[in-house]
Amino acid sequence: MARRALPGDGERVEKANEMRSGLRLYDTAARAVREFSPLRAGRVSLYLCGATVQAAPHIGHMRSGVNFDIAVRWLRSRGYEVTFCRNVTDIEDKILEVARRQNVPWWAVAERNQRAFTYAYEVLGCLPPDVEPRATGHVPQMITLIRKLVERGHAYAAGGDVFFDVSSYPEYGALSGQRIEHMRPAGDTENAEAKRDPRDFVLWKGAKPGEPAWDTPWGPGRPGWHLECSAMARAYLGETFDIHGGGLDLVFPHHENEIAQSRAAGDGFARYWMHNGLVSTAGEKMSKSLGNSLVITEVLRRVRPAELRYYLGQAHYRSVIEFSPDALAEAAAAYRRIEGFVTRAAELAPSPPGTLQTLPPAFAAALDDDLAVPQALALVHDAVRDGNNALATRDSAAAGLILSSVRGMLGVLGIDPLAEPWNAAVAAGGAAHLRGVVDALVRVALEQRAAARERKDYAAADAIRDRLREAGVLVEDTPHGPRWELKQ
Ligand SMILES: [Zn+2]
Repeated sequence: MARRALPGDGERVEKANEMRSGLRLYDTAARAVREFSPLRAGRVSLYLCGATVQAAPHIGHMRSGVNFDIAVRWLRSRGYEVTFCRNVTDIEDKILEVARRQNVPWWAVAERNQRAFTYAYEVLGCLPPDVEPRATGHVPQMITLIRKLVERGHAYAAGGDVFFDVSSYPEYGALSGQRIEHMRPAGDTENAEAKRDPRDFVLWKGAKPGEPAWDTPWGPGRPGWHLECSAMARAYLGETFDIHGGGLDLVFPHHENEIAQSRAAGDGFARYWMHNGLVSTAGEKMSKSLGNSLVITEVLRRVRPAELRYYLGQAHYRSVIEFSPDALAEAAAAYRRIEGFVTRAAELAPSPPGTLQTLPPAFAAALDDDLAVPQALALVHDAVRDGNNALATRDSAAAGLILSSVRGMLGVLGIDPLAEPWNAAVAAGGAAHLRGVVDALVRVALEQRAAARERKDYAAADAIRDRLREAGVLVEDTPHGPRWELKQ
């Protein structure tokens, strides 16, 4: 049978490494794809703007989570030691608004929604960040940063607030490609008349009755959103770090302001800027005020978590995803095709241990090319088709080889059905051995069924199958004999 070249067909991982021309990433600041070379050999530091926890996460938030999870997995797969910092903004105007509206403490809103985000990241198989700092835990670092900016003439206190003086930083606007004379007022305080220039942005907001406040040399108050990220990134990744990520909607003003604060304070800050595209629905950008239908827990009533992850991760991270229920269903079906091959092949031809890391060179090349997941997935689907052909001809050696290649690729994308968290038995840890016990019991029943058929007692054979179904075990007759799975 003719089939495509696969890893193990002579192409080894070492060869793949040799052939790699190096990782290239699109850098928003350079407006170009750049060769990636980390600050410290073998190490990558990555800061991702995480959740502002004023509401439960929707699929737009989780797209960012999944895109950067794939980035982190690929960097680690390439051998980099990655420090991944994803913050939680737990104090911000919108959180205080929600608290006022619901008549609950601001911290209760933050806690509740942070738990919802943690659940969503975990259920979608996003690896936990190495550190997940909360803004309110880093006020001293923020005060230090403001002090530096004031001392260097980049910030001033006025009317209870502290503002960043954008005219003091000539590169302001470089990330988003805007000229300062074309910018509109920042619109970030009710205290705008105190600003020297309406485009100056707020670093620190003076205390208001009923709001949380911390003492500072400029009076009591609370941090502005942009300041929080600059202080937390520095605290965990240092003055200069490799990659700063976030959604495309954060380029201006959030990231522009982060750069201004950190560089004006003398830090090198991020060396590469990666932005994921947004999820839009009916042509309308998903905003933080979006309705409930695309909240993660709602979407998970329609598809399984692995299917939702596949849907969010399949497009190139810089493209726009136009949400549609049909596209979600198609993605779920595509994932199930992969899953079907992997589970069948694993039963017929379990991978020899230690072969999971064999990645086809073309797959590595696709991810090295600014994380071209669509091309990488096309290779997965080609391999799955070849694998299904191998299963159909009972070529278990070929199927086993393809299985290990497919699982290697799926592992990088975080969608290997046999790995955590998708494999319930693996995820349950101690429960894993129960699968073996159930398998043995089901096999006894299936032998009885086969014996009943042998003596043409079809009523008895059907009764056994029905009893198994009632117990949640679905039996399917295949050319290689019956196989079973648990009803979902
Ligand atoms: Zn941020």
